[in-house]
Amino acid sequence: MCIFCKIVDKEIPNKTVLEDEKFLAFEDINPQAKIHVLIIPKQHIDSFEHVSPELMAEMTSFIQKVAKVLDVDSSGYRLITNIGENGGQEVPHLHFHILAGEKLGALV
Ligand code: 5GP
Ligand code: ZN
Repeated sequence: MCIFCKIVDKEIPNKTVLEDEKFLAFEDINPQAKIHVLIIPKQHIDSFEHVSPELMAEMTSFIQKVAKVLDVDSSGYRLITNIGENGGQEVPHLHFHILAGEKLGALV
């Protein structure tokens, strides 16, 4: 079982930001900004390459709710998903990073 599936199963503790029946948002263990939250589907999906458009649409709404809960929907945030080896993905379970709470340097 992958590490994020263990978090969903509560085998590994997490600091939950928001949860519903399909998705979980929790604080990253190694924050790269003042606010660094990970958003995952509870169902194991390897990466963005494998998510259906239907589930992605639901995930989009959930991510927008997380931004509101974090109170960064107006001030702004960065949304990142790393995909596969060249994308720098370390945990093979689809996740989006929300980075926020400060002005972030340009990446692209
Ligand atoms: P990736 O490089 O796959 O896009 O990002 C994986 C992220 O998961 C990293 O930012 C890392 O800090 C985070 N992470 C890895 N293991 C754990 C864990 O056990 N708990 C939490 N909260 N975050 C984790
Ligand atoms: Zn998993």
